[in-house]
Amino acid sequence: MPHLDKFAAALIVVAVVVGFLAPRDRNAETSSRANPAAGGVAHGAQASGKAAAPIPPRKPPKKRVPPFNLAKAAAAARAVKANELGQVPILMIHRVMAKPKASLDRSTKDLYDEFTGMAKQGYVPVTAAEFVAGKINIPAGKHPVVLTFDDGSITHADFDGAGNPKPDTAIAVVQRVAKENPGFRPVATFFVNRDPFYGGSKPGIETMRWLVRNGFEIANHTTNHKDLGKMSKAEVAKEIGSDEKMIEDATGKPSTTFAFPFGSLSQAHLAWAQSGSGPAKWNFQGMFLAGWKPSDSPYASSFDPRQIPRIRDKEKIKEDDCKQYCSTAWLEWLAKNPDKRYTSDGNPTTIAFPQDKMIYLYSRYKEWACPY
Ligand SMILES: [Zn+2]
Repeated sequence: MPHLDKFAAALIVVAVVVGFLAPRDRNAETSSRANPAAGGVAHGAQASGKAAAPIPPRKPPKKRVPPFNLAKAAAAARAVKANELGQVPILMIHRVMAKPKASLDRSTKDLYDEFTGMAKQGYVPVTAAEFVAGKINIPAGKHPVVLTFDDGSITHADFDGAGNPKPDTAIAVVQRVAKENPGFRPVATFFVNRDPFYGGSKPGIETMRWLVRNGFEIANHTTNHKDLGKMSKAEVAKEIGSDEKMIEDATGKPSTTFAFPFGSLSQAHLAWAQSGSGPAKWNFQGMFLAGWKPSDSPYASSFDPRQIPRIRDKEKIKEDDCKQYCSTAWLEWLAKNPDKRYTSDGNPTTIAFPQDKMIYLYSRYKEWACPY
C-alpha cells in the first residue's frame, strides 16, 4: 500500500523515540539481550503510564479428562524439554514480491527460505487469535510461531485465472512450505485496512472470504491506517468500528485481534481501542504492536494482551538494528537459547515447564501447571 512507503521514514523516527520510553522487562523469561533503547521499526508503540486493566480472561486450555496422571505428564514434558512459558516469535510482514521495491518489502524467495528454515527447526504456525486465546495445540517438542501480514496488500493474496494463489504471493509461499514440510500449518493472520487486496483479480471482499475459508485469519488494522494516539475516543471508535464493519460484512464474524498502525499510545488509547462500538461492535482479545522482540508466552504473568510485540520480518541488514532485532537475528538467537523458547509438551491439558520457571506462570493458569 502506498501509505507505507510514504510513512516508512516516520515509522523509524517513531520507533527510536518509542524505544526510549519502553519499560524494562518485568519477566526474566524475556530476552536478556533485549535493549529497548536500540529501537526497531515500529508502527505500533509501547504505551507509557500506569497499566490498564487486563483484557477479560483468556480461554484456559482444554479440561483434563480423568484419570489424569501429573507425574506421567511431567515425565513426558521433561523428555521433550517442554517450556510453555517460553518466548514466541510473532513475525510482522509487509509486502511480498519477487523484487522488493521498498525497505519494508520482503522477497518471495527470502520468505520461502525463512519459513522453510522455521519448519526444519520445528516451528508450527498458529494464528494471532489462537495465540492470544492460549490455543497452542501443537505436537510435543514443537515451537509456535505467528505469521502476521499487514495492510491487506495484493502481494499477500491474489489469484490466477484458475483461481489458485499466484506463486509470488504470501499465501502461495505459506501453502507451499506447508505442503513441502508436513506439520507446518498453512495459517497466518492478515491485518487489513480499507479496500483490502485492492487491484487483485477478485474484489477484496471475495479475497477475505477465500482466506477465511482456507483457514487464515482476517483481523482489524483500522480503516485509514492513521496514528490512533492523536485521536479522540470518538475518532478511534470510527477508525476501528468502520474497519470492523467491513470485516464482519465480508466474513460474517467479528475479528478477535487487532494491530495498531504506527504511533504513540496512552493507556486511554489502549482502552479505547480494545473494545467499543462504532459502525460495528468489537472486543479484541489481543492487540499487537510492531516492537523488536519475541512475545512472552500467553501463560506468563508478564504477558500483556493489549501490547503484544512483533518482530519485523527481515534479514540482518543494518537498517533499524535488524542485525539484532529483526526476524533472522531473533530466530538465530532463539535457536541458540532453546531454554528461552516456547516448546510444547503436546498436551493441551497442561502448561508444562521446568520447575524453576514456576514464578513466571500467570496465577489463573495454576490449575493446569505441569512443572518438572
Ligand atoms: Zn500497517
